[in-house]
Amino acid sequence: MLTDTTICAIATPPGNGAIALIRLSGTDAITIASKIFYGKKPLEEKISHRLSFGEIRDENELIDEVLVSLFRAPNSYTGENMIEMSCHASSFIQQKIISLLLENGAILAQPGEFTQRAYLNGKFDLSQAEAVADIISSQTEASHKMAMQQMRGGYSEELKELRKQLLHFVSLIELELDFSEEDVEFADRTQLVALAEQLHSTINHLAQSFHLGNAIKKGIPVAIVGKPNVGKSTLLNALLGEERAIVSEIAGTTRDVVEDTIIIKGVEYRFIDTAGIRETQDTIESLGIERTWQKIDMAEIVLFLADATDSLIANLNAIKKLQDYLEGMGKTLLLIINKTDLKPVETEPYSQYISKENILSISAKYHKNTDILIEKLHTHYLGMKENSGNIIVSNLRHYELLKKAEEATQRILEGLYQGIPTDFISQDIREALHHLGSITGEISTDDILGSIFQNFCIGK
Ligand code: GDP
Repeated sequence: MLTDTTICAIATPPGNGAIALIRLSGTDAITIASKIFYGKKPLEEKISHRLSFGEIRDENELIDEVLVSLFRAPNSYTGENMIEMSCHASSFIQQKIISLLLENGAILAQPGEFTQRAYLNGKFDLSQAEAVADIISSQTEASHKMAMQQMRGGYSEELKELRKQLLHFVSLIELELDFSEEDVEFADRTQLVALAEQLHSTINHLAQSFHLGNAIKKGIPVAIVGKPNVGKSTLLNALLGEERAIVSEIAGTTRDVVEDTIIIKGVEYRFIDTAGIRETQDTIESLGIERTWQKIDMAEIVLFLADATDSLIANLNAIKKLQDYLEGMGKTLLLIINKTDLKPVETEPYSQYISKENILSISAKYHKNTDILIEKLHTHYLGMKENSGNIIVSNLRHYELLKKAEEATQRILEGLYQGIPTDFISQDIREALHHLGSITGEISTDDILGSIFQNFCIGK
C-alpha cells in the first residue's frame, strides 16, 4: 500500500441527514484541503486540533459552508496529517467536494484504509483495529462492551503477556540447546512442564471464550421446538411482545430463513428459523425431520414446549427422546409446559429427566410466567459469562489462530512428557508464537491485512 498518497472518503452513510463528514488523510491532506477551502486564515497556517469555519469553492462558485477539523501528524487517528470536513449532507455537495479533492491530488480511500493506516503507523495493533469494525456494527450493550474492551487493548495485553511467557520459555529451552553437547539441563524439567501447562491452559481458556464471544456478537441462538399446536408461535409472540424485538432475514439458504431477535438486558437472543414456527412445521413426532434436528443443532438453548393437557406419559417420552439426542452436546434444555391455564401440572415427575430449575409451567396465551422464562434466558447468559474470564474472544480469525496455538502448546506438553529432544519442542513454541503474533499483527502479510480491511466500510 502506498502510504505517501493522500486518501479521501465520505465517512457518513448515504441518505438523508443534516451533516456529512468527509475525511482526508496523508502527507498532503492539509495542502489539498487548503486549495478548495476559504476561511479567515489559510489551513496550512493552523496548528493541530483546531476547527476552522469557511467556504468550499470551485473556482468562484460557492459549493458549501463547512467546518474543518485539522490534525497534524502524528497526532491523528491514522497518525498522518488529517482533515475532517463537516458539510451539509446533500449528495451533490458531498460528491462535488470529493471530486474537487480528487482534482487536487487526493485519491479515493479503499474500505478500511484509514484504520489500516492507523495500524501500519502503530496507532494500535491488528486486533484493536478489528475491534473498530466490531464497535461500528455492535447493536447491543454486551457486544458494544466487548468490542470496546478489545479496542482499548485489554485483549492485546493478555496476548502480549502470553507471548512474553512463551519467549521466556523458548529462552530457557534454547539455553539448554546451546549447551547440549555438554549434556547440561538448565531449566528444571518440572519447571518447564509447569510453565507449558499454564500456557496451554491460558490459551485454551481464551479459545473457549469464543463460544461466549460469538454468542454475544451474533446473538445467542435459541430453538423453540414441540409438536403442532403446543403454542410455539404464541410463545414466540409473547416473548417478542415483552422485549425489544428485531426480525431479520438471513439469506443464503434454499429460502430466506426468518429469525426473530430479542434483546434481554443488553444481550441478544436469536430465535432460529421462526418462519418454520409460523408455518408450524416443527413437530415433535417428526423430530426425525431434518429441519428440526438442524435447528436444535444450531441452538445454544433449546426450549422444548409440552402441552399441559397431553398425557404425562406422552410428554415424558418426548422429553426422554430429546434428552437422548442432546446427550453430550452441551446445550441447555428448558422444558416449558404450556397451557397450564387449562390444566395445572405437577413438574415433579419430569425432574427425573431434567433438573428442576430447567422446568417451567407457563401459559403463553395469557403471558403467565413468560417473564420467568425471560429471566431464565438471562440466567443462562450469566452462567456462560461466569465460565469465561474477563477477556472474551469474539473474532473467528483470532479463534482459529488460538486453536492452532493451543495445538502447538499441546504438542510441547506431549514432547516434554515424553522427553523428546528440546529442538523439536522449540519448533512448536515458535509456531505458537507465530500464531499469537498473527492475532495482534506483529506477524502479518498483505493477504491477511487485505482480507481484514476489505470488510470495513469506506471512510473508516
Ligand atoms: P404452534 O403450532 O405450536 O405454533 O401453536 P400455536 O401457537 O399456533 O397455538 C395453537 C393453539 O393453542 C392456538 O389456538 C393458541 O391460541 C392456543 N394456545 C397457545 N398457548 C396457549 C395457552 O397457554 N393456553 C391456552 N388455553 N391456549 C393456548
